[in-house]
Amino acid sequence: MNQCWKIAVIGSGPAGFYAAGELFRQQSWEIKVDMFERLPTPFGLVRGGVAPDHQKIKSVQKIYSRIAENENFRFFGNVEFGRDIFQADLLEHYDAVIYSVGSPADRELGIPGEDLSGSHSATEFVAWYNGHPDFCDYKFDLSAKNAFVIGIGNVALDVARILAKTPEELAETDIADYALDALRASQLEDIWLVGRRGPVQAAFSPAELREFMELAEADVVVEQNVLELDAESQQILETDASNDTKKNIEILKQISLRDVSAKKRRVHFLFLSSPVEISGNDKVEKISLVRNQLLKREDGSLAAQPTEKINEAAAELVFRSIGYHGQPLPDLPFDQKSGTIPNECGQVKDPENGNKLRNREYVAGWIKRGPSGVIGTNKQDAVETVHRMLETFLNEKMEAGKNCANPDIVALLENRKLEYVSFADWKLIDVHETEAGQKQGRPRVKLTSIAEMLSVIRQKK
Ligand SMILES: Cc1cc2nc3c(=O)[nH]c(=O)nc-3n(C[C@H](O)[C@H](O)[C@H](O)COP(=O)(O)OP(=O)(O)OC[C@H]3O[C@@H](n4cnc5c(N)ncnc54)[C@H](O)[C@@H]3O)c2cc1C
Repeated sequence: MNQCWKIAVIGSGPAGFYAAGELFRQQSWEIKVDMFERLPTPFGLVRGGVAPDHQKIKSVQKIYSRIAENENFRFFGNVEFGRDIFQADLLEHYDAVIYSVGSPADRELGIPGEDLSGSHSATEFVAWYNGHPDFCDYKFDLSAKNAFVIGIGNVALDVARILAKTPEELAETDIADYALDALRASQLEDIWLVGRRGPVQAAFSPAELREFMELAEADVVVEQNVLELDAESQQILETDASNDTKKNIEILKQISLRDVSAKKRRVHFLFLSSPVEISGNDKVEKISLVRNQLLKREDGSLAAQPTEKINEAAAELVFRSIGYHGQPLPDLPFDQKSGTIPNECGQVKDPENGNKLRNREYVAGWIKRGPSGVIGTNKQDAVETVHRMLETFLNEKMEAGKNCANPDIVALLENRKLEYVSFADWKLIDVHETEAGQKQGRPRVKLTSIAEMLSVIRQKK
């Protein structure tokens, strides 16, 4: 084989690694992959999003580490696209670029009081408890008695569960040490999960719901009338509801029939409600929720329609968890509404230039399709992108290079005085963290500042 494609991948989450894995499966060409990641640590939301008490899910990192062992793979951590390295650099050194930068921002509620102290996004809280360096200095007032989590998808359930768990339950995980300390002092008594539609429309998965029945010091509360479904929802449940929805309703029934014991905390599932205002003098004191009814849309789905009925409740902490949102990258088109980079099967297209396709720029993962789906969803997604890219190379008669030496990007990074982190360097952090974890019977004790991470690498090298 004497023809070689050189590909840059931006972002080391599931989409980036699945794209690299698919590139290495190609037999017709040799393919070199250089992956750039803004943090010194790889794996995106698998490290910084997936809940610390869901370690089994995090084991997918082993698959990504195997991909990283390929001799044609190089990792450049602590290098941010748009700050340290730019589109022009990449197009000069590589045949094509795959942007797989995820959706790091959050969607806002758009209601009064959302900016009060004590009102946060789930994005911030999740990144904080997972030790993401950008969020380790955040403060959450856990002297609060009542917390409201707005939204009722799996991320909202993660947030409520972490708030509800005891320090002992959390101490077995790799939750950031400062978060464990803060949660140890938590005074929370009631945590409310608020969904705008009914239980049949809820987006959480049965496994996540079931976990609430096993909490050591928190009861789960589902009012029985929640399960008195409206006629349309009942019909959906009996005809075309997914197995997951049927299981969810079954579990909610079991929960509603259980006696509420006298545990320290309660997690309440509140359906058919939307926040209309968060209020307080200089911090959150109260939340106003409107009661919704379900209204059939033209396509047959059920939408939440506000009624006149508004309930007010004491609240000192509010977390909005209504979805993540992508952020624009320099020199790339961006669709503000969907928070994605416009593309056709992963190939970037320019809406401002007649939707012209860019032959050397591609996207994968959340920045391509929006923030939905589980880790595995990013595999098909990345495979589609890689195939589209290789087909474009053929169709456009682009020529693979004869020179298979590594792209000379190291010189550029060094010229810019960037302290980049290789995959071998990351493994030094990994060993440091897991050894510290072993001493405490935990999977790892995370380093949470970039300076600390770089210092560990310097010491161990
Ligand atoms: C809170 C939460 C919990 C979840 N839990 C689960 C779960 O339990 N099970 C499950 O299957 N799925 C779960 N998911 C979904 C799963 O994490 C996503 O499907 C997946 O991570 C998306 O992959 P991605 O590669 O597109 O983005 P990401 O995982 O976000 O990776 C993007 C990477 O790009 C890097 N990056 C961003 N900008 C730049 C830049 N400018 N330059 C260089 N690098 C950059 C980021 O640092 C990051 O490492 C969860 C998601 C969230 C938010």
